Amino acid sequence: MGRTGGFLEFDRKDPGYRPKADRIKDFHAVEKSFSPVELHEQAARCMHCGIPFCHGTGCPLGNMIPEFNDLAYRGKWREALDILLSTSSFPEFTSRVCPALCEASCVLELSNGQPVAIRQIEKAIIEKGFERGYIQPNPPQERTGWSIAVSGSGPAGLAVADTLNKMGHTVTVFDEAQKPGGILRYGIPDFKLEKWVVDRRIKLMEAEGVLFEMGVTVGVDISHHYLEGRFGAICLTGGARTPRSLNIPGNGLNGVHFAMDYLICQNQLLCGETVPPEKNISAEGKSVVVIGGGDTGSDCVGTANRQGATSVTQLEIMPKPPEERTESMPWPEWPLKLKTTSSHEEGAWRLWQVSATEFGGDEVGNLASVHCVEIDASFDGGRPNFIPKKGTEFEMEAQLVLLAMGFVGPTANPMFDDLEIAWTPTGGIDTDDRHMTSASGVFSAGDMASGQSLVVHVMADARRAAFDIDAWLKRD
Ligand SMILES: Cc1cc2nc3c(=O)[nH]c(=O)nc-3n(C[C@H](O)[C@H](O)[C@H](O)COP(=O)(O)OP(=O)(O)OC[C@H]3O[C@@H](n4cnc5c(N)ncnc54)[C@H](O)[C@@H]3O)c2cc1C
Repeated sequence: MGRTGGFLEFDRKDPGYRPKADRIKDFHAVEKSFSPVELHEQAARCMHCGIPFCHGTGCPLGNMIPEFNDLAYRGKWREALDILLSTSSFPEFTSRVCPALCEASCVLELSNGQPVAIRQIEKAIIEKGFERGYIQPNPPQERTGWSIAVSGSGPAGLAVADTLNKMGHTVTVFDEAQKPGGILRYGIPDFKLEKWVVDRRIKLMEAEGVLFEMGVTVGVDISHHYLEGRFGAICLTGGARTPRSLNIPGNGLNGVHFAMDYLICQNQLLCGETVPPEKNISAEGKSVVVIGGGDTGSDCVGTANRQGATSVTQLEIMPKPPEERTESMPWPEWPLKLKTTSSHEEGAWRLWQVSATEFGGDEVGNLASVHCVEIDASFDGGRPNFIPKKGTEFEMEAQLVLLAMGFVGPTANPMFDDLEIAWTPTGGIDTDDRHMTSASGVFSAGDMASGQSLVVHVMADARRAAFDIDAWLKRD
């Protein structure tokens, strides 16, 4: 292990963010990185526990965290990289956007509330790997002769493709978007994940032989019959992008938009893509109300402030979470604590237990206000019960409303009916324990099967799906 008693010598540190006044003026990444000394000290804090909960309970990928922490502490970057890449396809993504489930289950979180800064150590290892040229295109020596079609180039599709390609299969990734990456590129803002990071990985995958066909909607531009004729297996990784809507009066007014339409637009502009005027949504000079208190909502807050919104308010119907763990969220479980992101710090009025009841408009159909009411929330066997509190109605000025209330499932596609795809009760594509859908030879992974999740979860699921596809192709 690294340094005996290192956790007693050094407190946990975070590299922090760029100053608010600077970062708000641009879309560049807000989070800083550790200096070499800080990194050394932070890696020294790992206790190399007998039972590493970070690895076994926290990280869905099963990353070998104590091992790479130790190697990072000793400056053995190449070895640390090999260990990291043995379980993770794209550490450069998770080390930037993962909420770090591993840190919540670190034994130091239990003992002094200061877990090892694992996500930052992961970032240092992968970035050193690129900087020092350890990561070079490494195409398979031999091809198996099997071809696989992957529909959707988000983190799930990329991880399936990368894993199958490394096994020697020939993989073609189709996506209806102009550029690969899914939500990594078009949902998550640059201030969390700059797009050169996505481009760097795509370039590497292309150099290793993965083929990308962009601007192709599978099931519309090309049929599943075409894919079945050309490929030995198909993997559907189209995500779960159908947003939950808010059916209240006025939801058709100009200025009421789904969060993803708004985030996609800003990301397309930053990528240099053309956005038609009817799809160009800007918060500049507007009072913005974001409905939904989760991460997508937080990304809207950060984007709106950068675009020059005059005010940003984020509404959440659920009660304000506690600031610390409670008895109902014991270590090493992921704690549903209050999350204050860099975007919130930049300026947002956050309201809990509030529901929008109506959108008010002006005489030409533009949004002018949001009518709200405070909510009494009770829980019946875990199911929330929301009761409006009489006499608490209020109204807020708004020219832009962004609906960020989650997603209900995959985007409708005629192919699903043609293939007679079976669905889960929660609206995802149903798969068996081999990731195969109800259609033989058609697999699914990521959000499309699980519902909206986290990059680390979809990557873990997709890697397993790749092994299942490989086993199915090689069946007797
Ligand atoms: C705004 C936002 C912010 C988020 N922030 C974080 C975060 O900070 N950290 C984190 O861990 N997770 C975050 N998540 C969740 C995470 O991004 C998703 O769980 C993850 O991207 C899902 O990956 P996926 O590959 O399954 O789907 P997606 O990323 O949605 O990719 C699906 C791809 O399939 C394509 N597609 C769909 N249908 C077709 C078709 N018929 N033909 C061709 N292509 C098709 C789409 O164009 C898209 O490129 C965020 C989600 C959102 C919405």
